Amino acid sequence: MTELFKIGFLTVSLFDLLDIMIVSFVIYKLYRIIKGTIAAQIFLGLILVLFLSFLAQAAEFKAFGWMLKLITDIWVIAFIILFQPEIRRLLLILGRNPLLRMFVKNDEKNLADILTETAFELSQNQHGALIVLVRTAGIRGIVETGEVINARVNKNLLRSIFFPRSPLHDGAVIIKGDIIEAARCTLPLSTETDINGETLGMRHRAGLGISETADVVSLIVSEETGGIALAIDGKLIKGLSKETLKSQLTKNLKITKDISWKSFFDQTLGKK
Ligand code: ATP
Ligand code: MG
Repeated sequence: MTELFKIGFLTVSLFDLLDIMIVSFVIYKLYRIIKGTIAAQIFLGLILVLFLSFLAQAAEFKAFGWMLKLITDIWVIAFIILFQPEIRRLLLILGRNPLLRMFVKNDEKNLADILTETAFELSQNQHGALIVLVRTAGIRGIVETGEVINARVNKNLLRSIFFPRSPLHDGAVIIKGDIIEAARCTLPLSTETDINGETLGMRHRAGLGISETADVVSLIVSEETGGIALAIDGKLIKGLSKETLKSQLTKNLKITKDISWKSFFDQTLGKK
């Protein structure tokens, strides 16, 4: 193998450099995706232990190497258990693959229209609402916390559900494809309690929370202000106008149209 240079007992070849670059790239991308979560700190700790055990191996410290290997093994298992939601989200992003999308129906235009109109009528009456739009994988566990509806999406049905004195108005409605699967569902709350100094209420935290752990878009209509917000991939976008809401919904519910490898790589590598 072509030897580039030597540092002490290490000889470095071109392939080693390439190897190091690939590992750095993968670690950097993983870090970018989980940045800002507690998982990131633990992930950094794991990298440190891995690095130490690599050094121990190179220096042939057998017992120390064995100890570090033990820590790494336990750490990996603990990491998977503790950060199941983050890992799940990562895999979902990877799984939102253009090839899978070809098999899903393409009604998003119509759905975006209906949802936009519904949201604005609810907002005018200051009726609060929380709607979860499922993209790829279903969220059966969440649907089971509510009451089954199984009806085609339509504006007046949604308005009746969120009418404040309706027995179904509390909690979230789950929509998959063009079917309202359930109402009155309980969502996991986001750990974010405020955004830009503004306190988040329960409805907003619930909408945000589900977008952190599942591949969904949440639509939130505020009862207090009538403001309309979307939560996508753990980010909350507030104060949407009719046009932006419609275009955001069309874009984010779009399943078949963007079968391009560029968008696949952009999504997978988190370059949004
Ligand atoms: P708003 O702007 O409408 O007041 P908010 O974000 O300030 O919204 P709250 O005022 O706390 O939130 O809204 C409470 C409503 O949020 C509840 O009536 C309930 O319908 C809904 N909600 C609260 N927690 C959850 C949850 N875990 N899952 C689903 N819905 C929830
Ligand atoms: Mg409130």
